[in-house]
Amino acid sequence: MELCTRIQDRFPSAAVQGDFSFARHTTIGTGGIAAAAVFPRSGHELAELLTWLQEEDIPHCLLGAGANVLAADAPFQGVVIKFSRMTDIALLPDGNILAQAGVTGGALLRFAAGRGRGGLEVLSGIPMTVGGAVAMNAGVSEGHIGDFVVRVTAVCNGKLTELNEQECRFSQKDSIFLRKKCAVVSVMLRTRACYSDEIARRRCYFLKKREHLPKGRSMGCVFVNPPEGSAGALIEACGLKGMRVGDAYVSLQHANFIINEGRSSRDIDCLIRLVSERVKRRTGIRLREEIQRLP
Ligand SMILES: Cc1cc2nc3c(=O)[nH]c(=O)nc-3n(C[C@H](O)[C@H](O)[C@H](O)COP(=O)(O)OP(=O)(O)OC[C@H]3O[C@@H](n4cnc5c(N)ncnc54)[C@H](O)[C@@H]3O)c2cc1C
Repeated sequence: MELCTRIQDRFPSAAVQGDFSFARHTTIGTGGIAAAAVFPRSGHELAELLTWLQEEDIPHCLLGAGANVLAADAPFQGVVIKFSRMTDIALLPDGNILAQAGVTGGALLRFAAGRGRGGLEVLSGIPMTVGGAVAMNAGVSEGHIGDFVVRVTAVCNGKLTELNEQECRFSQKDSIFLRKKCAVVSVMLRTRACYSDEIARRRCYFLKKREHLPKGRSMGCVFVNPPEGSAGALIEACGLKGMRVGDAYVSLQHANFIINEGRSSRDIDCLIRLVSERVKRRTGIRLREEIQRLP
C-alpha cells in the first residue's frame, strides 16, 4: 500500500502530503523527493506518529526550516516530519516564553519584542525554527539558544518527556536531541524585561554583524570551529576559497560557506569531502561537519 494511504488509514485526521520535495524546503535548495510528509499539530500527535513509525519500521526524519541540512538526491521511501503546524507561542506569568518547535526565529523575536521581553536578540537573522535551533544549539559567539533554555518537552523513545537545561546537554552545535534522535515539541525560554528601544538597538547590532555573510543558497557554516580556531580561516589558509565541484563552490567571502547554484546535493557532498581531506592533509586537523545529513 502507498505510504500516504497507510499513514492516513492509521491517523485519519493527520495532515499528510505526498511527494515532498527536500529541495523546496531547504535553504541550500537541493535534495530528492520523500514519499510522504506529516505535519503534526501537538506533542501527543507527534509521539503517536513516532511510535507507529518505529513499530512499522518506516524510515523517518525531522525537518525544521531546513537551514542546516543536506538532503540526499535519491528518492526517500520514508516520512519527513515537518513542524510548520506547531507554531503556538505564549508569554508565561514569570516572563518566560513557551514556544512550540515550529515557531520560526523571526516570529519568536517579534513576539518577545512586542511584549518587552529581551535577551534573545543574539539569535537575530539566524534562519531557524525553535526545534531545529535547540537541536543544533544555534547561536553566535555572544550566545546560543541553550543559554536561554529553562525546559524542553520532547518525544524520546516514543514518550513525551520533560528535560531541564542540563539534561539537554548543550555543547558546540550539539545537544541530546541530535545525539538521541529525540524530537523537540516545545521549549521554555528565559527572557528579561527590556525597553523596546534597547531590544531594537540590540537587534540592529546583531543583524549588522551578519551583513558580511555570503548571499546565495547555503546551509550557513558547513564545519564546526575546531579547538585550533576558525574553520573558515583554516579553509582559507589552505587556499580553498573559490574551489568548485559542478554547481557548488566555496564562498569567496566566507570559506566556511558553500554556495549552491544548481540542483545536486552530490556536488555539494563531493566538495565538502574534498575540503575536509585537503584541510586534514595540510594541517592535520580533522574538521567536524556542522551540517546534518538527511534522511
Ligand atoms: C545563511 C545562513 C546563516 C546561518 N547562520 C547561523 C548562525 O549564525 N548560527 C548558527 O548556529 N547557525 C546558523 N545557520 C544554520 C542554521 O540556521 C541553524 O543550525 C538553525 O538552528 C537550523 O534550524 P532549522 O529549523 O532550519 O533546522 P534544520 O536545518 O531543519 O534541522 C537541523 C537539525 O535539527 C533536526 N531537527 C529539526 N527540527 C527538530 C525538532 N523539532 N526536534 C529535534 N530535531 C530537530 C533536524 O533533523 C536536523 O538534524 C545558518 C544557516 C544559513 C542558511
